Amino acid sequence: MQSSLLPKKQITIIGAGLVGSLLAIYCAKRGFRVQMFERRPDPRIKLALGKVGEGRSINLAISKRGINALQNVGLEAEVLEEAIAMPGRMMHSPDGGLVFQAYGQTTKDAINSISRGWLNCYLLDCAQKMPGVEILFDQKIQNVDLDQKSFTLIENATQKERKIFYEILIGTDGSASAVRKSLHKKMQFSMSEEELSHGYKEFVMPEKPSGGYQMEKSALHIWPRGSHMMIALPNRDGSYTCTLFLANSSKSFSDNFENLKTPEDVRSFFTKNYKDFCDLVPDFVDQYFDHPTGKMVTLKCDQWAYNDNVLLMGDAAHAIVPFFGQGMNCGFEDVVAFDKLLQTESNWRDVFVKFFNERKKNADAIADMAVENLTEMSTKTADPKFLYQKQIEKKLQEAMPQNYQSRYTLVSFSLTPYRWAYEVGQVQSRLLDEMTEKYYPNVDIPVHEWSERIEKELGPMMTQIQKHLAKESATWI
Ligand code: FAD
Repeated sequence: MQSSLLPKKQITIIGAGLVGSLLAIYCAKRGFRVQMFERRPDPRIKLALGKVGEGRSINLAISKRGINALQNVGLEAEVLEEAIAMPGRMMHSPDGGLVFQAYGQTTKDAINSISRGWLNCYLLDCAQKMPGVEILFDQKIQNVDLDQKSFTLIENATQKERKIFYEILIGTDGSASAVRKSLHKKMQFSMSEEELSHGYKEFVMPEKPSGGYQMEKSALHIWPRGSHMMIALPNRDGSYTCTLFLANSSKSFSDNFENLKTPEDVRSFFTKNYKDFCDLVPDFVDQYFDHPTGKMVTLKCDQWAYNDNVLLMGDAAHAIVPFFGQGMNCGFEDVVAFDKLLQTESNWRDVFVKFFNERKKNADAIADMAVENLTEMSTKTADPKFLYQKQIEKKLQEAMPQNYQSRYTLVSFSLTPYRWAYEVGQVQSRLLDEMTEKYYPNVDIPVHEWSERIEKELGPMMTQIQKHLAKESATWI
């Protein structure tokens, strides 16, 4: 890897989560010294004790953008070895019926279930092996003094405060970022933090008593139920992590967490809506009361940097809801974009300005698509017209792959900038609605009659995307 032309300042990273750990690896590879502070204890100690998985989302889906970011630094093979490929969704209907919907044209188009805890520990291990990287755990940063270029640290064990000075500070400290709060206090930029009406709760579906998976392993399972839904991703030990997404209160929907107060409430809600799940997770009532209810936010802010010395990245800059499985993937893509600027720029201010200009539009686009996808997953995946459109899309994609790639494909299986995938998706949605109006339920549509319109309305955007992707693959060194 080429080293950077930028002045060789020390990079201080706050938050050794998924994005911070990967960023430390990239920065060290470019020849920078890195110091990283993390408020939690070292998760590798828990992993050794078999306790990884406590807390937020036990597993997550990694797709093309995340894999590309790992590949650039030679880490994708080991991660994919640990992951389970999911080439499609398995839909669970209320009567227990199952339908598999492939995500792409071939089984190669798969998203991959990976343990969050394992991935974080693996990236920390890789970062720690790099020359010039120091990681300090149990250190909570509290307040950044942007004028002095310093921050206050509290050591968990002693509760002692220390002041640390920095040269370049990068906040990868997640959606409740202390670095962002300090920036906001000083700069008063506009910021929105929208909490979703829905919360989530996780359940573990154990492996079969005789060993092995209780459901199809190679799929992301979805129980779409309109105003709520459940999903399940496989783990390597034969279990699944299942997540119920349900409205928080009766303000928005009659089915909600507030109404599930007693074991009887929970039992009757699940038996009515998720009968097959209840049979496979016999202790679901206990798990319901033992596990916390998480909240989900979309966070957008109008500045991610201060002068030439502080930057936000990952969830600290742009937390999104999880319905496109892209939060971490987007954060990993931030790291790749930042690294490109380390190669091309010669002053830090330009790095920060160009990073924001490039990533902000894309982060906003995936944030909006992620919110839209809640409706797609919970409602539309069970709607015959939506399933019809998926069949039509498959035909269009087969007949004219140059001009038609579904939005899901562009987001999950390509490096197409999110904002372009969003724009293409809007045109596609309009065309599919027209076709549905005209032909539904006949799937034998005259594709050739539409090819001219598709060429005209989608062709230029798809050509722009192909050119961009060709350039992208040629420029990474
Ligand atoms: P985080 O993972 O939040 O890491 C931040 C780190 O900073 C943590 O280690 C934290 O302890 C530390 N920290 C915080 N404050 C301080 C402080 N004051 N001082 C020092 N350290 C601090 N994304 C996907 O790509 N695919 C998925 O399938 C997916 N599923 C998800 C499911 C759920 C239910 C949720 C909630 C999210 C999901 N995501 C998914 C999103 C993904 O989890 C996040 O986008 C990703 O974790 C962001 O990484 P990060 O490093 O920016 O932040």
